[in-house]
Amino acid sequence: MPELPEVEVVRRGLAEHVVGRTIESVTVTHPRSVRRHLEGAADLAARMAGQRVTAAERRGKYLWLTFDDGDDALVVHLGMSGQMLVRPADAPLEKHTHIKATLHDGTQLRFVDQRTFGGWALAPLVEVDGTPVPEPVAHIARDPLDPRFDREAAVDAIRAKRSEIKRVLLDQSVISGVGNIYADESLWRVRIHGSRLASGLTKPVLRELLDAVTAVMGEALAVGGTSFDALYVDVNGESGYFERALAVYGREDEPCRRCGAPVVRERFMNRSSYSCPRCQPKPRRR
Ligand SMILES: [Zn+2]
Repeated sequence: MPELPEVEVVRRGLAEHVVGRTIESVTVTHPRSVRRHLEGAADLAARMAGQRVTAAERRGKYLWLTFDDGDDALVVHLGMSGQMLVRPADAPLEKHTHIKATLHDGTQLRFVDQRTFGGWALAPLVEVDGTPVPEPVAHIARDPLDPRFDREAAVDAIRAKRSEIKRVLLDQSVISGVGNIYADESLWRVRIHGSRLASGLTKPVLRELLDAVTAVMGEALAVGGTSFDALYVDVNGESGYFERALAVYGREDEPCRRCGAPVVRERFMNRSSYSCPRCQPKPRRR
């Protein structure tokens, strides 16, 4: 599953290679990739044809394109394996290419998705808190890389939750874009175990935690952002760019980079949590 930095890398690629171009035609070759567009493939293609792409936007892990006629956005779900590739229109098709949008400059935006969990759908733009966002994104909070992210408001929203801090970090309606990897890495930096109660953490600690989240994502982005410069926009998902720099995630039994204690893996919400048992003591059961 791509996390926020990987999605931002894709967004930047689209901003560079697709924004400002006009879509000549759209061809859908796998119906599953447009299943979220309830009016069907022909409707999607007809409504996108002739539109000029005006922006590539992102909130959390949600990605969308806007058009010059303004009312609808194209929401792109990357799912587990979705890729947005920009290739010369006559270049051989990649395996698992399910949607093609031919642009007026001779290139083609291709949606390639081996596992077909992702897809494209048009959705109306609605205004939330002064910013237009597609309807399916309306309930998603701003992410820490958003220039209008309000750290103090996020601290208050977190402290209002009588729930484990890691669960709250993953709650996209509180802050968006924090996935499993970045939650674990950020909690390690501030030496907090993910099962501590959010409402029991102090404001200074939560400010520090949010700053850690922002820093970890910024570092991942700095690494990922250098990996594409060709007309090739890629998503690597969680085994991607940042792997070598991870402190705890995926490092079970390896030494903590701070104190040397073996990193512990625990089950959490059908996934895994990684932490240092010495730096991040587990709270006692109540
Ligand atoms: Zn440690």
